[in-house]
Amino acid sequence: MSEFVIVPPAQPIVPVVGGGTFPVRRIFCVGRNYAAHAREMGGDPNREPPFFFTKPADAVISADNVPYPSATENLHHEMELVVAIGTGGSSIDASVALDHVYGYAAGVDLTRRDLQDEAKSLRRPWDMGKGFDASAPIGPIAAVTRIGHPSSGRIVLSVNDEVRQSGDLADMIWPVADVIAFLSRLVALQPGDLIYTGTPEGVGPVCRGEKVIGTIEGVGELAFTLA
Ligand code: MN
Repeated sequence: MSEFVIVPPAQPIVPVVGGGTFPVRRIFCVGRNYAAHAREMGGDPNREPPFFFTKPADAVISADNVPYPSATENLHHEMELVVAIGTGGSSIDASVALDHVYGYAAGVDLTRRDLQDEAKSLRRPWDMGKGFDASAPIGPIAAVTRIGHPSSGRIVLSVNDEVRQSGDLADMIWPVADVIAFLSRLVALQPGDLIYTGTPEGVGPVCRGEKVIGTIEGVGELAFTLA
């Protein structure tokens, strides 16, 4: 019988604007939260309750180079506002939900669209389409004490300097407070949880060697090359 030495995994972290790091506990993502994107994915953008999926905590990556994942020929970018939870809670009321937010960041929900589409058509889970290694690029987290709570502002993603996605945070079907309220009825939120809050229209493929830049007005930006 062989012996194993199990080394405790490194704590996934995200840099904080002005210094320090934010330790990541879990990653939640909202499925559809902008009407035009819901339509482009064949959905109905009415206010049906938001739905959620997850990525592993160590899918976060804050680096100039993000590895192009295996097992896909159709990697898509989804530019999103990311909420960093600072105070936990269950069944949080929307009226106080923003008090639970530590800060915000610009992030990309990278998606193996071919695997996700296959999973959808076969009524299988999305995990391998969404939750792969390095599938959650993120910029530095700006604390609420620094930027407040952005409820509007341009959210833009470009690939090799060509704008692919352009929307406004004000167009979210469910604003951040409502997202926290819904999610905290499903799980007990804890400090370190990240919520990717959904993407505006214009999702599309990104290829090896291409440079992705995402900016959210009043929040920050991220930039990476698919290596
Ligand atoms: Mn997404």
